Amino acid sequence: MAKKWSLPPIEALRADGLRIADLDASGTPGFKGGKKQAQKLLIERAGVLSDLQEKLYANGRSGDTRSVLLVLQGMDTAGKGGIVRHVIGSVDPSGVDHASFGVPTGEEKSHHYLWRIRKELPRAGQLGVFDRSHYEDVLVVRVHNLVPPEVWEPRYDEINAFERELVDQGTTLVKVAMFVSLDVQKERLRERLDRPDKYWKFNPADIDERGYWPAYQEAYQVMLDRTSTDYAPWHVLPADHKWFARLAVTELLIDALDGLKLDWPPALFDVEEQQRRLTEA
Ligand code: ADP
Repeated sequence: MAKKWSLPPIEALRADGLRIADLDASGTPGFKGGKKQAQKLLIERAGVLSDLQEKLYANGRSGDTRSVLLVLQGMDTAGKGGIVRHVIGSVDPSGVDHASFGVPTGEEKSHHYLWRIRKELPRAGQLGVFDRSHYEDVLVVRVHNLVPPEVWEPRYDEINAFERELVDQGTTLVKVAMFVSLDVQKERLRERLDRPDKYWKFNPADIDERGYWPAYQEAYQVMLDRTSTDYAPWHVLPADHKWFARLAVTELLIDALDGLKLDWPPALFDVEEQQRRLTEA
């Protein structure tokens, strides 16, 4: 762990007992440096992440069925896309299984809500990334009463059981809930309206969603309280500073990959014999 951290992100961002209402979205828990230091460190740590991901991929090619899945949740403009581009973007794309989950299609609606999620789970040796996830089914669905409480209420336990199953099958879950302050969200939405290269990101409904912030805050709190488990804990990420969010997620992924104790897979051939053959070829 680089010495810029007073506490490793895995501990500094722990969701246990945290009240979202008290969260400072501009905070940088556990990190002692500022933007410059974070950006410099990110370059170094991205290299470490990339090497570990290559090991995961190599082992997947050699019969190891384990995988890692990053689950990103957060309100619009929280920076989920930036994490995908700047953190996941630092590793070999062939080792990444990326999926984003928007409003369910007609076909998706005709199935159980986990149906579309199961289809996108990372394959052996892959680093999976969910930009939104099954948690939308206890967030937007709850806030907008898209189904009655007796339908969404059992989902917390069901999601825990689902994730238990994934972990038992060898998937390490890294769940990150990103929080941006309403002021910074407003700035980011304004930028989308001010810049033609950002129009495509703007959705008029994002302004309406701001009015639902208290309801979302409650839904996020219940989500953290009920689905942060010892086998799949939530991390709460203050996201007003993109440089902090990106560095912190990089560290969480490094930690998860380190936990797999990966080594390079051994050669399935006699190395010396092949070296001799190549010399003579
Ligand atoms: P983004 O806004 O992240 O770029 P999209 O516009 O494709 O992506 O879709 C995101 C929208 O889909 C969000 O408003 C989100 O709340 C909504 N959404 C995701 N999952 C569900 C779901 N299960 N039910 C209803 N709405 C959902």
